Amino acid sequence: MPGISSRRIMLTRTLRSAADLADAGLLPADAVDAVARVGARYSIAVTPAIAGLIDRADPADPIARQYIPDAAELLTASHELEDPTADAPHTPVAGVVHRYPDRALLKPLLACPVYCRFCFRREAVGADGGVLGEAALEAALGWFAQTPTVREAILTGGDPLMLSPRRLGAILGRLAAMPHIELLRIHSRVPVAAPDVVTPALAEALGAVARPLYLCVHANHAREFSTAAIAALGRLHRAGVVLLGQSVLLRGVNDSVEALEALFRAMLRARVKPYYLHQLDPAPGTARFAVPVEEGRALLRALRGRVSGLAWPTYVQERPGGAGKVPLGPAYDGA
Ligand SMILES: *Cc1c(COP(=O)(O)O)cnc(C)c1O
Ligand code: SF4
Repeated sequence: MPGISSRRIMLTRTLRSAADLADAGLLPADAVDAVARVGARYSIAVTPAIAGLIDRADPADPIARQYIPDAAELLTASHELEDPTADAPHTPVAGVVHRYPDRALLKPLLACPVYCRFCFRREAVGADGGVLGEAALEAALGWFAQTPTVREAILTGGDPLMLSPRRLGAILGRLAAMPHIELLRIHSRVPVAAPDVVTPALAEALGAVARPLYLCVHANHAREFSTAAIAALGRLHRAGVVLLGQSVLLRGVNDSVEALEALFRAMLRARVKPYYLHQLDPAPGTARFAVPVEEGRALLRALRGRVSGLAWPTYVQERPGGAGKVPLGPAYDGA
């Protein structure tokens, strides 16, 4: 693009390949081949909103680190697992994961607005992941209708907010009409990664659901709470959606007391209550993001005296083999 500095390009579309990233000034030319090989295995997507947050002058930028692929992803460490949370053995019907008696996941689609390089479902999500077909969705909703112990339906994926407001509203409406479903929850990256997708129509569709609706927004760095993201979250809040935050403890992104404090304060300013801080799940090719549990506990201990109790998430780990989430502390009884 003659005459336009690559640093100042206003992106209007999602970058989906190594070549796209290089053209946007987000990947050095000598990394393109290796990243193209990564892209052949794991989907790449960087939205204009996220690209606009990246400081191209900082080689260690914590936003870039989450979304720009690295050749290290081609190496699988010996402890890494294809399905680290063991969803597959807890899948009674396609698109459903039922591990706990009172709640179950519904995955209506496997596409996301961005593809995080540390994703625990990276072998499943992706641009070719698609949506549950009509028949499969009916079967999944049928499973919820026939499972009265389940009080809470949790839409995840993929990212449910990538569905049209009409389709998402219809799915939530079907679930809310089941007498035993007391709560609905959505896990999403959209409010930070593609805030313009949170249109008034989408907020209205979510606000119309006849059950308490919690939206758990995934964000790992304070800078992800851009002006546009805060506005998107405000629309959801005004529609009556209760906002929670979930983050992953990531090397080079939020592995300091200062970064975590800034992240949780940014959440609270955006009306988001920090809910979980996840220990990294050992998905293939994600070792560069690992922070040891002891270090995570020390970070949280150091944070405790500095921030409001409202800023405090539960630090959790998904136990291997599908045993579920367990809190990791820190403990304060002297242990
Ligand atoms: C994480 C998860 C949930 C939700 O757990 P909460 O602790 O209620 O947030 C539900 N089902 C499955 C299979 C999960 O992995
Ligand atoms: S948005 Fe969630 S499911 Fe999608 S790539 Fe990121 S971590 Fe994975």
